[in-house]
Amino acid sequence: MRVADIEADLAQILVTEQEIHAKLDELAVRVAQDYAGKDLILIGVLKGAVMVMADFVRALPFHAPMDWMAVSSYGAGTKSSGVVQIRKDLDTDLHGKHVLIVEDIIDSGLTLSWLLENFESRGAESIEVLALLRKPDAAKVEIRCKYVGFDIPNEFVVGYGLDYAERYRNLRDIAVLAPHVYS
Ligand code: 5GP
Ligand code: MG
Ligand code: MG
Repeated sequence: MRVADIEADLAQILVTEQEIHAKLDELAVRVAQDYAGKDLILIGVLKGAVMVMADFVRALPFHAPMDWMAVSSYGAGTKSSGVVQIRKDLDTDLHGKHVLIVEDIIDSGLTLSWLLENFESRGAESIEVLALLRKPDAAKVEIRCKYVGFDIPNEFVVGYGLDYAERYRNLRDIAVLAPHVYS
C-alpha cells in the first residue's frame, strides 16, 4: 500500500513520533528512580506493545530483562470482546520479581484486569502497569496504571504498534482511523 493511500485512511494524527519518544524518555526517568536496586522485569503484551517496549527499554539507564505474553481479546474488529485467551505464555517465573507490564493502550481495561489477576497468582513481588495510551471514557473496569503516556478520546486509533486487521502497525505516529475504513 502506498503512503498516500495510508494517509487517506487516517482522520487525524493524535500523537506524533516525537511526542511519543519524549514521553517515553520521561517515563523511563520515573521508572529508573522507582526501581533502583530492584529485580525488575518488563512484560510486553504482543503485538501492540512491540514499539512501546522497543523505545522504552532503550530509554532506561539500566538493563531490564523483558518477556512477552500474547493474549487475544479483539479479533479483527474494533470493540473488545471481554474474552481473553492466552496465545503465548511467559518464559519467566515471576516469583519474587517486580513486574512492569508494558501496554500500548488501555481501552475497556478488560484485558489488563485479567492479566493483573493472572500475574498476581504467579507470586510476583509487585506488579505495575505502563501504558502509552489510555481512553478514560472507555473504561469498563478501573485499572491502577502508574505510568500513563497520553489520555486520548474514545476513538479507534492505529499506528506505533496498534493495528486494524494487522495493518497500520508500522505508522510512526498514532492516528485516528477514518471510520470509512471499518464501517
Ligand atoms: P481493552 O481490553 O482495554 O479494551 O483493550 C485490549 C486491547 O485492544 C489493547 O491492548 C489493544 O491492543 C486493543 N485496542 C484497544 N483500543 C484500541 C484502539 O483504539 N486501536 C487499536 N488498534 N487497538 C486497540
Ligand atoms: Mg495491547
Ligand atoms: Mg489489535
